[in-house]
Amino acid sequence: MITYFMPNEHVTSIYDIDLQELKDNGYKAIITDLDNTLVEWDRPEATPEVMEWLQTLYQEGFKITVVSNNHETRVRTFSETAGLTFIHSAKKPSRRAFKKACQLMEVKEEEAVVVGDQLLTDVLGGNRGGFYTILVVPVASTDGVFTKLNRKIERRVLKRMEKKGYVIERKEHKENE
Ligand SMILES: [Mg+2]
Repeated sequence: MITYFMPNEHVTSIYDIDLQELKDNGYKAIITDLDNTLVEWDRPEATPEVMEWLQTLYQEGFKITVVSNNHETRVRTFSETAGLTFIHSAKKPSRRAFKKACQLMEVKEEEAVVVGDQLLTDVLGGNRGGFYTILVVPVASTDGVFTKLNRKIERRVLKRMEKKGYVIERKEHKENE
């Protein structure tokens, strides 16, 4: 059960995802979380860095869909200004939205990776759906109200995982060092 919380990869940020390696392994699409994965949870629109990263993705031939548990207004405002396909109110760790995202992108489920900053929603949901999962360090050290509770549980899960010998390398953003 605990292995369901283990991401396949842990990187500092979306910019550290090795796109070439994903391509080499047959991946064609990225299903990504929004809050604290692409931008801070309280930043309404994409940063120039995110926009640049998206351009790189497209150049490399990747498709991308935002899958967020947040409400429609938040997810729509962000995604539409960035020109992204999105699914809001996704109810992660349910697998349904991930599967729907694959349908929207017209890729097979084994061709998509799931990216996010939370073990309890992104990684758990991705793993349950059989996706390759990539955990990123949260962009901001603060969280929205609901995520705060998840983080509490997440810390407990991490402790249990460490006791069982599963170690998720703790990465930090440079500005926090
Ligand atoms: Mg998040």
